[in-house]
Amino acid sequence: MNLLEDELTGLHNRRGFQSLLQRHIQNANQRQNNLALIVIDVDGMSRLNGAHGYAFGDAVLQHVARQIGEAARSHDYAARIDGNRFALILTRLLNAGHAELAIQKLYRLLDVPMRHADQLVRVSVTAGVALCPAHATHADFLLRLAERAVETARSAEQRYAFAREASLDQGMPDAWELEIEMESALDRGELSMHYQPQIRIADGHPVGVEALMRWTSPSKGSIPPDIFIPIAERTGQIKKLTVWAMNTVLRQSGHWSHPWGPLSVAVNIPADLVAQDDLPDIVATAAKLWGTPDIHLVLEITERSLMDPKRSFEILKRIREPGTRVSIDDFGTGYSSLAYFRDLPVDELKVDRSFVSQLLTDPACSHITNLIIDMAHRFGMSVVAEGVEDEVTLQALRERGCDIAQGYYFGKAMPSPAIEQWLNAVHDARPAPPAE
Ligand code: C2E
Ligand code: CA
Ligand code: CA
Repeated sequence: MNLLEDELTGLHNRRGFQSLLQRHIQNANQRQNNLALIVIDVDGMSRLNGAHGYAFGDAVLQHVARQIGEAARSHDYAARIDGNRFALILTRLLNAGHAELAIQKLYRLLDVPMRHADQLVRVSVTAGVALCPAHATHADFLLRLAERAVETARSAEQRYAFAREASLDQGMPDAWELEIEMESALDRGELSMHYQPQIRIADGHPVGVEALMRWTSPSKGSIPPDIFIPIAERTGQIKKLTVWAMNTVLRQSGHWSHPWGPLSVAVNIPADLVAQDDLPDIVATAAKLWGTPDIHLVLEITERSLMDPKRSFEILKRIREPGTRVSIDDFGTGYSSLAYFRDLPVDELKVDRSFVSQLLTDPACSHITNLIIDMAHRFGMSVVAEGVEDEVTLQALRERGCDIAQGYYFGKAMPSPAIEQWLNAVHDARPAPPAE
């Protein structure tokens, strides 16, 4: 006999359920995943038992258990936690809508009547849902909220309800709320692209910009990309955002006057997209729609994108063919392998800000920066230093032969009209470059 199994239904019993819930909440918190707990009550159980006998009651419970098992995915967990009460733990949930889909699936399955001794009986259930971390991050609270939601649904004569309480426990991150808001942020026009200048160190001319995404939520104000980009990556929204970013950047930059000659515009590309076959098409479509000869697109990828070199190299080669360049962002912080360095289909390395900011104070950072610059040049790549905040750091980079600098010393990321003004103001403030 399995001590964690419910004999009647073969699902997990209450004890098994409790340890599963604890474990998966811990996982969800650690990995910043979402989890949903659905508590499902079979309606009118005592009436059914009374009218048809306990054997029938057992058959009903077994039927419901089967349908719950059917609605669950392979990484969800179903349990009977009380006489007529079941629970379903949905792990690795992308968004609240998915919990709703699971419930609807369960109701569709239960809408088909069960057959018992030549009788067709439709079993009705009421459900309550609580989400981790949105509603609670502790097992006990989550269960309590889901059970309370069952009562709410019942008194409102609804089939199911979501927990309402914001939180009973402390320190709840509002990742869930952001995740939901994020879904429609683009459609509501809350996202925009800002541009940070990049300067050629040798002559001080602006030669490019990096496009950085900004989100201003009407209720929460400005949300940093370090917060919302990982959410978008986790929820699968990042592709839509990247396609939008690429098109927006090419469209806006295509209108700028940039007196210093051709300008490169860099767009950040998340690792997951580099692994997808359609990235070259996405780039080609955007370039065809908005591309102009004087704007050169640069894709900033991370070392993580190159974990599967065979695949990513092939995709990057297809992208580079029509003239788009590839840059490795935050270089030196990931896991680049020197073994494949000579075959890298890459044009540029960006020295991570953490090395640049300590260039003058930490000898290790200075050595690493030297190494990156030297290696890039040996392989015919250029080097951008990011996070340059003062003249002395710029001077140190110049001495080391770094090609391009980016950082607050020159300017922060700014909206499209402001960067155009900036590019022109820098031009007006300097003497014309000597004719060649
Ligand atoms: P990143 O790609 O490494 O971008 C550089 C970050 O350094 C930007 O932060 C920029 O504002 C900041 N920065 C630039 N110069 C300086 C400086 O001199 N000092 C300091 N302290 N910081 C400087 P931001 O805009 O907050 O972006 C943070 C990260 O969010 C980016 O890091 C990138 O990983 C991600 N991100 C931003 N926009 C996008 C986007 O459109 N798509 C994707 N996939 N990721 C993005
Ligand atoms: Ca970047
Ligand atoms: Ca960077």
